[in-house]
Amino acid sequence: MLKVLKFGGTSVGTLDRIQNVAEIIKKIKDEGHNVIAVVSAMSGETNKLIEYAEHYTKSPVANEMDMLLSSGERVTSALLSIALNAQGYKATSMSGRQAGIVTDNAHTKARIESIDTANMKNALNDGNIIIVAGFQGIAEDGRVSTLGRGGSDLTAVAIAGAIEADVCEIYTDVDGIYTTDPRIEPKAKKLEKISYDEMLELASLGAKVLQNRSVEMAKKLNVNLVSRSSFTPEVEGTLITKEENIMEQPVVSGIALDKNQVRVGMYGVTDRPGIASAIFTALADANINVDMIVQTVGVDGKTDLDFTIPTTDWETCKKVMEKFKSEAENIDYNETICKVSIVGVGMKSHTGVASKAFTALASENINIRIISTSEIKISMIIEEKYAELAVRALHDAYELDK
Ligand code: ASP
Ligand code: MG
Repeated sequence: MLKVLKFGGTSVGTLDRIQNVAEIIKKIKDEGHNVIAVVSAMSGETNKLIEYAEHYTKSPVANEMDMLLSSGERVTSALLSIALNAQGYKATSMSGRQAGIVTDNAHTKARIESIDTANMKNALNDGNIIIVAGFQGIAEDGRVSTLGRGGSDLTAVAIAGAIEADVCEIYTDVDGIYTTDPRIEPKAKKLEKISYDEMLELASLGAKVLQNRSVEMAKKLNVNLVSRSSFTPEVEGTLITKEENIMEQPVVSGIALDKNQVRVGMYGVTDRPGIASAIFTALADANINVDMIVQTVGVDGKTDLDFTIPTTDWETCKKVMEKFKSEAENIDYNETICKVSIVGVGMKSHTGVASKAFTALASENINIRIISTSEIKISMIIEEKYAELAVRALHDAYELDK
C-alpha cells in the first residue's frame, strides 16, 4: 500500500517526538508499505516566526511571510529525514516545490492548483521514504507560498489524492472521532467509520483533529482519511470515507454541541416582499455566517424573524442590524443559548428520529427554542445552561454508548 501520513505540530513538537514519529514510520515501512509523510512545524514555531515579523510591522509583506513561515515545516522535514537515515532507512525530505505543489498567487492563504507527482514517484521507486514539508507550495509567480494556518492537513490530503494513495492518516494527539465530546459524556465511544458528510456536520467534535477544509477536499478527491494519534499509534483511529463504504449505517452517528451561537430576534417586522432578502443580503455582505432562520406566520402585516449567528460575528451583526431598526418594533440578542445537533446518514431512511430527540429533551424538561433539519442532521437551539445535560440525554436516547 501507499500511505500518506501527516504529523501535526504536537506530534513533532520536540526532538524526542520526532524520534517517535520516525519509529511509527519505520514500523509501517517494515510492514512493506510505501510512505509519504507530511509534517507540520514543531508546535509553537509558526507563532514564534509570526511574532518575529511583527517586531517590525503589524502587516508584513505577504510573500516574505510565506518565505519565513515555510521554514518551520522545512526544519521538521529535514530533521525527520536525518533521524530516519541515521537509523539505516532511506529517506528524503522535500519542500512543497520539490513535491510538485503549485498554488495560486494568494500569498499566506494560497490554494493548491495542481500537483506534479513525478518527483515523488521517482523517489518512491528508488525506495525512499518521502518527508514533505507541509503547508507550502510554489506560487505561479515563482515564489514560495503557504496555505493558511493549519494547512499541512491540506498538503497531505492533496498529495494523497494526486498520487492515488490508499489512505491518508492524520496523526494528532487525539485517537479518533468520538460519538460526542468525552469530556461531556464519558460514555462517548470512538467511531470506527464515519462518512465525509457526517464528519462535516460533526465538525465541532473533530475541530481539534481535522479541519473542515481538508475533509471537504478528501471528499472531493475521494481520499480515505484516518484520524489517529501519534501518542498511541497502536490504537486504530476513525476512518472517514464515502457513504457507500459504510455497510451498516447507524441512524445517528454523533451528537455535536455548539455554544458559540447568538440568537437574534426581530419582532414586529413589516411583512413585505423583499424584507428577508434585504436583511440577509446585508448580513452576507458583512461576511456573517447565518445559521438557523425562522420566520413566523405574519399577523396584521407584522411578522417575527429569528436567526442564529456565531458569537464571533455578534458585533458586526449589531452594526448591520442598525440599518433595519426602523423595519422592526424590537430587535434583541440572546447569547445564553447553544445548538445541539444529532447527525447520522441513516436518518435518510428511518422515521421517528426527530421525535426521539424531542422526547429525550422533554423528559429532562428542556425547552427547545428553534428546530431545523437537513437530510442527515437535526439541530435544536436550547438554553446554554442545559447544554451538557441535553448532550447526555441524546447520547443515551440513541444508545450511542452501545
Ligand atoms: N505550521 C502551520 C500552522 O501552525 C501549518 C500546520 O501546522 O498545519 O498553522
Ligand atoms: Mg497544526
